[in-house]
Amino acid sequence: MRALVLERKGELALRDIDLPNEPGPDDVRIAVHTVGVCGSDVHYYTHGRIGDYVVREPMVLGHEGSGTVVEVGANVKNLEVGDRVCMEPGIPDLSSRASKLGIYNVDPSVRFWATPPDHGILAPYTVHPAAFTYRLADNVSFAEGALVEPFAIGMQAAARARIKPGDVAVVIGSGTIGIMVALAALAGGCAKVIISDISDAKLAIAAGYPGIAPVNVANEDLAAFVSAQTDGWGADVVFEASGNPRVYDDMIKAVRPGGALVLVGLPPDRVPFNVNNAIAKEIRVETVFRYANVFDRALELIASGKVDLKPLVSTTYPFEESIAAFERAAEGRPADIKIQIIVDEGATG
Ligand SMILES: [Zn+2]
Repeated sequence: MRALVLERKGELALRDIDLPNEPGPDDVRIAVHTVGVCGSDVHYYTHGRIGDYVVREPMVLGHEGSGTVVEVGANVKNLEVGDRVCMEPGIPDLSSRASKLGIYNVDPSVRFWATPPDHGILAPYTVHPAAFTYRLADNVSFAEGALVEPFAIGMQAAARARIKPGDVAVVIGSGTIGIMVALAALAGGCAKVIISDISDAKLAIAAGYPGIAPVNVANEDLAAFVSAQTDGWGADVVFEASGNPRVYDDMIKAVRPGGALVLVGLPPDRVPFNVNNAIAKEIRVETVFRYANVFDRALELIASGKVDLKPLVSTTYPFEESIAAFERAAEGRPADIKIQIIVDEGATG
């Protein structure tokens, strides 16, 4: 099957490669329609590794996908041929202790698309467990379906925050994930989200949404801005979605006494964290690793019109120009949020 293969760090090829194409009894086979380019795909391309995950063999990229079911396994009851779907890219062991606890995202044996040694889905077809494949409502496009994966991280962050109606939140970082977190926080009941970045272009995209107030921390102090917006009390929740190791002091300053810090962004290394200041406010710290049990909820929010992800698609490329799509993503243009690749416009099999 022709696929976008990361041969090694810095080298991509569109070429034939052997991929599983026979669904087992609990699987579906999907004609892939749209795949989003994720920061992690780009990082494997430019660095050849993320932490302990190292690209040692050629690997197909892509894990944010939507498509059409073209074949169902004998046991599959929830899906039919012709269903338009999106896919949750992590496959846990359903009999594991983590899965039984409902935290299958932290199952040590989880396999995840486009994470070494597992292939991703930038190819015409993929095979996936029906249990992790979700039907799209008629009013949800393939582009939106392929955005459910990054939005799911925002959903997980909002769930971890335990938002109460009327909370004020801060999101640090106005990239794809930061905006996804902000939208999920609003959908989860926040009255207002203050989002920070140093790129006016990224902030302008976030500020296009009602309820999101941008602050450029290249010229303004985040804690002072949050204080002014909250009568000196601080934000109920501060989400970290930048991975910048220098923001931790600001986070502790910006959060209210008894508030929550939710860590989403991955810093490149260990970070200094002022434990005394955190204890003095009795801050609750939560962490977010991917997501569990949020795809259905994400799709409900999108289908209901409460969350509109469409403005986040910056541009699309045809499959044959996948390498150009990755080169553009690697440039990191400030106004680019999500770049998507249309694998097969027809995608009906
Ligand atoms: Zn992703």
